[in-house]
Formats: sequence, structure tokens, C-alpha cells
Amino acid sequence: MSRSFCPDQYRSVIDSHFHTQSMLQRGMDVFSLFDGLFASGFCGGIDIGCVHDDLPERSKLLEPYPHILLAGAMGPWEAGKSETKETDIEAEFSKTKGMDQLEAELGILKKNIETYNARFIGEIGLDYYWEYGNHEKQKLLFETQLHWADEMGLCVLIHDRDADEDIAATIRRLGPGKGGIIHCFDGSETVLKTALDRGYYISFAGNVTYKSNERLREMLKRVPTDRLLLETDSPYLTPVPLRGKPNSPEKIIHTYECVSQVLGIDLGKLKETVLENFNDFASR
Ligand SMILES: [Zn+2]
Repeated sequence: MSRSFCPDQYRSVIDSHFHTQSMLQRGMDVFSLFDGLFASGFCGGIDIGCVHDDLPERSKLLEPYPHILLAGAMGPWEAGKSETKETDIEAEFSKTKGMDQLEAELGILKKNIETYNARFIGEIGLDYYWEYGNHEKQKLLFETQLHWADEMGLCVLIHDRDADEDIAATIRRLGPGKGGIIHCFDGSETVLKTALDRGYYISFAGNVTYKSNERLREMLKRVPTDRLLLETDSPYLTPVPLRGKPNSPEKIIHTYECVSQVLGIDLGKLKETVLENFNDFASR
């Protein structure tokens, strides 16, 4: 049975970044949620890969939803257990990986991207907060996949945590030509400037609604409205007033409301603008 929302409540709403598999792993009834959302006008979004070999299963699970586009990648967490920082991260990312293993996993991923027609490469990037593997391993994954994006003519979805300078320098150098999305933008001026120059879109997540994030809301005003996207990053980063609960795409409505207030744009107009941006991005 599908969840019911008001008719048209989600008309023109998109969610540019969510992780269906991570929601399923938390026992969330994702499919009845999607059925309800699409029945009330939801326009879809991008389901993001978490690990190098998850595309076959994700592509089968999401086949009934043509408006959910697939991205596949090795994120920085796949560089393995941190060699410099004591961390308590999920078991699947707690094994040390050698360069050989990373190369082999990249090979599996590339084949899957081609076989399952992933529309984007993401999320990829650098995470110097968790310090997965080491910087050399993270950069190997990041740069290899940026090269593929050019080769395959695909856009990328970028994850940046505490790595602003290296992210900006790398996308300045390696593009890719078709650009991409800076996902869950956290307010870095350097990243914003470089990303806009390189034709990227800037996506804001639920953390823009957090009371302490005044600075991020100020940065939001500096993003040209034709480069603005919104996302949940479900099941993470639940917006206020639902913060603390697991996130899911219907909660994006609170992020739309916050952004419409900050920018002084009518909510309906914001939905249309973000949808248009998303469609322009997806048709690159
Ligand atoms: Zn994500």
C-alpha cells in the first residue's frame, strides 16, 4: 500500500541526492514512500551509489521508477580504514585496502557503470574528516573517476568534507567537461567560486535549516538561482523541524520552505526553478 500525501503536494518537487539502499538498510519502507510521492506529483531525483558493486541491485530495485536516475561510484569511504585516524565507522568501510584492491574495484565499477547505464558518476570526492585510507588512495579514486566522466561524457556528483582546497584544485584541473553537482554544499567560498566557474550546480541539504548555520544561509544568497539544487542526502541530514529522525525524500519539503524564506522567493516559484535546473542538469 502506498503512503498518501495530499494530491499535488509534491508537484514540481525533486530531490537531487538520496541513498535508497541506505534507507532500506534502516528498515524504511522506501517503495511505498516513492509510490505515494509520485502519486502526489513528485518529479524524482538521483539515487546515489555507496559502493563499487551496488549498481546491479539498485538498477533492478528502481526499475519501476523511471524518474529516479542512477549514479554509480566509489566514494572516498571506499579507500578503506583510515591509516591516520582512530575512527568508529561502519564495518564495511573498516577494512584496510591496498592499491591493487582499489584498482580491481574500480574495474568492477567501470563495467557496472557501462552495463547498467548509470547516468552520473557519484558520489566521488575527498573526506578529510573521516580520513578514509589515506589522501593518496582517496585521490586515486577521485581523479580516476573524474577522468572517466570526461571519457564517458557524464556529469559527476561531488562529496567534500573538510577538503575544500583539494576539491577546488582538483576540479579546476580535471573538470570534468560536463561539470556536475557539489552535493551538500557546506559554504566554502573557494569551492563555490571554482565550481561555478566550471559549470557546476550547487546543492543544499537539510543542514541549511539548522539554527546555527546562519553562514550557510548567507552563502545560499550568493548562488545564482539558475545553479541551485536541493537534496535530502537521505537517510542523513534531516531538516528542521524533523531533525533527529532518519531522513527520506518527502522531508525535502522543509528544506524548500527554508530556502524560499531565505531567498524571499515564493515557494511555488522555487519549486519550478529547482525543477528546471534539475532537468537542465540531467539533460547535459
Ligand atoms: Zn550522499
